[in-house]
Amino acid sequence: MASPTTAPLIGLTTYGRDSENQFPLPADYVEAVRRAGGIPLLIPPGETQLEPILARLDGLILTGGGDLDPSHYAGADHESIYMVDPERDATELALAWRLVERGLPCLCICRGAQVLNVALGGTLIEHLPDEVGDALSHRLPERRPTRHPILLEPGSRLAAILGREQIEAVSWHHQAVRRPGPGLRVVARAPDGTIEALEMPSHPWLLAVQWHPEMTAATDPVQQRLFDALVEAAQAARVRHAPDNGQRTTA
Ligand code: MN
Repeated sequence: MASPTTAPLIGLTTYGRDSENQFPLPADYVEAVRRAGGIPLLIPPGETQLEPILARLDGLILTGGGDLDPSHYAGADHESIYMVDPERDATELALAWRLVERGLPCLCICRGAQVLNVALGGTLIEHLPDEVGDALSHRLPERRPTRHPILLEPGSRLAAILGREQIEAVSWHHQAVRRPGPGLRVVARAPDGTIEALEMPSHPWLLAVQWHPEMTAATDPVQQRLFDALVEAAQAARVRHAPDNGQRTTA
């Protein structure tokens, strides 16, 4: 039988293949999970046997990256859309459907938040500056990160985890949620009204943030709390499920 004291296994999706046929992932994500006490397991695109992986995971992170193909949300093509990767889209959309069904604790970050929303039938804004203007930057030119304030919904799970109602975070996106998918609740916005976070009240632990907590979590305890809370939820789910799940035996 699995020991409930074993650290929870946290899956992380990787980026799609780069020009050298490698599956990269910024180490910030892995390090944030390790600081939280989780064991990171990378899941590259193209995997078709997702059920055996999900059966072993205690939690999941859908990571950042390039844009979804707008055909997934009946969106329009736009000249700014970049790094579209059918292999990554297929794997992550399939993971998103399944994590909702299973009630698997999951933190969705940037592209991950968009993947979750699209998987649930929501839509995206193809290029934010076209719709909210550029008084507030969500990324700098040539696709570089910036920072801006984020206003959290009082009483939300997110505000409870972060312990405050306003934060400043790293922003690195040019798209955002347009219409939230069914079951998702908007729990944070930028000062320009852009949706910056979603949560699913009917799910045990499902949070989606448009910003990049992993980029500052090493030095900002407020951002690290997202990873700590995910690992705590994964640990709790693991203990709950352990007695009838022989696949988690480690001996
Ligand atoms: Mn932003």
